[in-house]
Amino acid sequence: MQFEVHYQPIVDLNGELAVGVEALVRWRHPVRGLLAPGDFIELAETLGLMPGLGLWVLREACAQAVVWQQDNPGFKVNVNLSATQLSSPELTDEVGAVLADTGLPPNSLVLELTESMALTDLTESARVLSSLKTLGVRIALDDFGTGFSSLSHLGALPVDVVKIDKSFVAAMRETTATGSVAEAVLHIARTFNLAPVAEGVEDEMQATLLRELACAEAQGYHFARPMPAAELTGLLTRQSAGLQIR
Ligand code: C2E
Ligand code: MG
Ligand code: MG
Ligand code: MG
Repeated sequence: MQFEVHYQPIVDLNGELAVGVEALVRWRHPVRGLLAPGDFIELAETLGLMPGLGLWVLREACAQAVVWQQDNPGFKVNVNLSATQLSSPELTDEVGAVLADTGLPPNSLVLELTESMALTDLTESARVLSSLKTLGVRIALDDFGTGFSSLSHLGALPVDVVKIDKSFVAAMRETTATGSVAEAVLHIARTFNLAPVAEGVEDEMQATLLRELACAEAQGYHFARPMPAAELTGLLTRQSAGLQIR
C-alpha cells in the first residue's frame, strides 16, 4: 500500500490543546517520495479511483480515532469527501458501515466538503447531507469563502462547521477588503449558528487575532504540521502529560 493517512491537529485556540485532527491523504511514491494530494487527487478522480481511496481514508481515520479516544475522550476526526463520493448513492451506507465496523461514535466524525461541491446542485446536496446527518455525523464546509456561490443558500444546507480558508487567515493583517474576510466569515458563522475553524494559522499574531474574534478552533503550521499517526500519538501523550503541543 503506497497510500498513507497523515493527521493535522485541530486545536482549541484558548487552551491550545489538540481536540481533533484532519485526516490528509499522502502517496508514498517509490521514486518521487511523499506526495501531497495536490499532486495526485485530480488524477485519481479522473481515473475513477477517488471513491475507493476516499473510503479507505475514512476507514483508516475512523479506526485510528477510536484508538486515540481511549486516552482522549471526545477526540474528533475530520475527513475530506471528494465530489465523486458526494454524488455516490452508496455514500450514507458506506459511512454507516465504517462507523459500525470501527465503533467510532458518529458525532466524533466530521465530513468536510467544499462549498463549490455543495452548491453545484443545492437540492441534491441538501438531500445527501441530510441523509448523512441521520447517522449522527457532522458536516463541515471546507475552504469557506473561496467559492461564494450563494451565501443565502447556506441556511438550506444542514451544515455544522465552517472552515475559514487559509487565504483569508493569511490576509488578516492587511487593511484591504480581503483582510476583513476572516472576520466577516466569523460573523456569518455566528448568524447561521455554525462552529468556525480557522485553517492555515502560521503565526502567533494570527492566532491572537482569531482568539480576539472569538474563533474557538484552528489548525495550521503554527501549531503542528500534518504527521503520521505514530507521531500524533506522541503529541497526544505529551499533551496528556501537561505539555503544550508546540
Ligand atoms: P484541505 O482539506 O483544505 O486541507 C488543508 C490543507 O492545508 C492541507 O494540505 C494542509 O497540509 C494544509 N495546511 C495546513 N496548515 C497549513 C498552514 O499553516 N499553511 C499552509 N500553507 N497550508 C497548511 P494538503 O494535505 O496538501 O491537502 C490539500 C487538499 O487535498 C485538502 O485541502 C483537501 O481538499 C484535499 N485532500 C486531502 N486529503 C484528502 C482525502 O483523503 N480525500 C479528498 N477527497 N481530498 C483530500
Ligand atoms: Mg479539509
Ligand atoms: Mg481547507
Ligand atoms: Mg483546500
